[in-house]
Amino acid sequence: MPKRILITGGAGFLGSHLCDRFIKEGFEVIAMDNLITGDLRNIEHLFKLKEFEFYNHDVSKFVHVPGELHYILHFASPASPIDYLKIPIQTLKVGSLGIHNLLGLAKQKNSRIMIASTSEVYGDPTVHPQPEEYYGNVNPVGPRGVYDEAKRFQEAMTMAYHTYHKLDTRIVRIFNTYGPRMRLNDGRVLPAFIGQALRGEDLTIFGEGTQTRSFCYVDDLVEGIYRLLMSGYVLPMNIGNPSEITIKEFAEEIIKLTGTTQKIVHLPLPKDDPKQRQPDISKAKNILNWEPKVSRVEGLRITYEYFKSLPKEVLYHRDHKKFDDFIK
Ligand code: UDP
Repeated sequence: MPKRILITGGAGFLGSHLCDRFIKEGFEVIAMDNLITGDLRNIEHLFKLKEFEFYNHDVSKFVHVPGELHYILHFASPASPIDYLKIPIQTLKVGSLGIHNLLGLAKQKNSRIMIASTSEVYGDPTVHPQPEEYYGNVNPVGPRGVYDEAKRFQEAMTMAYHTYHKLDTRIVRIFNTYGPRMRLNDGRVLPAFIGQALRGEDLTIFGEGTQTRSFCYVDDLVEGIYRLLMSGYVLPMNIGNPSEITIKEFAEEIIKLTGTTQKIVHLPLPKDDPKQRQPDISKAKNILNWEPKVSRVEGLRITYEYFKSLPKEVLYHRDHKKFDDFIK
């Protein structure tokens, strides 16, 4: 009998790639999403498969899934600083009420559950690169607090269910990830720069551009997640690409890739923007025998092809199709 897996946030960037991977592995996949930031176009190709189901549901409300459920991946959450500003309460609710509902479901169904945590639990880190043992430097009341604290609460709640209810849990701390199906208008640096290049606009660097990030291609991340889920490791694990770059260098790479003749403009640096970020992936290497394989040159090329293939109205309208549009 095929195993059944519930993927929350299944219509999102990471969620949809996970749906693809688990379908490929022979699972029955149930994607759940309330489509606040997800987009059905990401999973449109899966609707014809009998192994695939979609529930249009907000996991902050009671979650019911009939039948057996062997695995749950909780990947539903807004995940960009622009989203946290626009929908802060939903961001907090999906990480707190949402995880409580899903842990309850996992307990009832005896499922293994993995939660998507984030490098944001380290805040603006004072330790570099960041190992899992670092407790972080988070401002709870800053603009990112709604995301960072929800994710920290989510980790605490998951460990409590593991310890108290003996639930089979996994926690993945995801660092900046990119690839096809990122939302063009979510404000994240990669879709921002590529979107600007395609529309012939200037590239907007926040601050001087000396802040660093380390970008992981989505297929590498999905492989790490798959291995962690199938492993017996219950403590949080970093998954990301340690190849670190300043945002200024990153803008220059995008200029080279796209051939844009536009210039770079500097805008004010948002509050609490982390100055540096790089995952320490020793644990993933040793325990999962995992490390990223896709170089930034290769990953960016594939991602750029994807953005170039989007219809013009998506590029200019800067919004995405909602459930109602989709079922019309
Ligand atoms: N950033 C930028 N220009 C943009 C969007 C983002 O310079 O148009 C910067 C942002 O200030 C941050 C970095 O790029 O330092 C990564 O931002 P993103 O929102 O992608 O992710 P996060 O800050 O959560 O890592």
